[in-house]
Amino acid sequence: MTPQREAVLAAVRSSRVHPSAEEIIRQVRTTSPGIGLATVYRSLDVLVRSGRITELRLGDGAVARYDGNVRRHDHVVCSGCERVFDVEVDLPSSVVSAAGGQVDVDIDDYDLEFRGRCERCRG
Ligand SMILES: [Zn+2]
Ligand SMILES: [Zn+2]
Repeated sequence: MTPQREAVLAAVRSSRVHPSAEEIIRQVRTTSPGIGLATVYRSLDVLVRSGRITELRLGDGAVARYDGNVRRHDHVVCSGCERVFDVEVDLPSSVVSAAGGQVDVDIDDYDLEFRGRCERCRG
């Protein structure tokens, strides 16, 4: 791991908001002011490929977001401010097997994306 890559990984892991590359660059530059855009993108790519972080396409999917929490979990996306929250819920196995049964696939994993309005955006 290069120091830049370490800095990118630390920035993703320290964030609770599933930051975009832009947000990660801003964060990394507070400790490594000279780091370039291309280096950050390359680091993100390597970290995703090695399974240290996850790349997410949530909401309208226009912007890739990065997740330092690689344990299995699901997401709630606020349609107002587009903040992304981690949640852990288990679907009943009958629901999972019903979905797989419709297309004859043995399901071994799934990702859930819930959408709604957060406390701040309801008001
Ligand atoms: Zn919101
Ligand atoms: Zn997450």
